[in-house]
Amino acid sequence: MSDDDGQISVYDEVEIEDMTFDEDMQIYHYPCPCGDRFQIALADLQDRETDIAVCPSCSLMIRVIYEVEDLWREKEEEPEPEPEKAQAEQAAAAQVPVAA
Ligand SMILES: [Zn+2]
Repeated sequence: MSDDDGQISVYDEVEIEDMTFDEDMQIYHYPCPCGDRFQIALADLQDRETDIAVCPSCSLMIRVIYEVEDLWREKEEEPEPEPEKAQAEQAAAAQVPVAA
C-alpha cells in the first residue's frame, strides 16, 4: 500500500505572476536551475487540469500558484467607437432681424 495521496514532491512553488507567458506557444515558463525552463500549458491551468509545471530536460517540477482569473487571456477586440454623427442641422430660426 502506498501512502501517496496524490501529493507530488515539487522542487518549488512559483506564483503565476513570476512566470513568463509565451503568447505564441500559449504556455507559461519559468527558469529551471538546470538551464532549461519549466513549462505548463495555459489551457491546463484554465481547466485546472494540473498546476505542475515540468522541466523537459531534468524533469524537475514546480507547483504554480494561481487563480484562474489571473491567467493570461486574449485581449478582446474593442469595437471601434462610432464617430459622433455630425449634427448638420442648421438653426434656421436663428435669423436675427437687422435693426435699422
Ligand atoms: Zn531543468
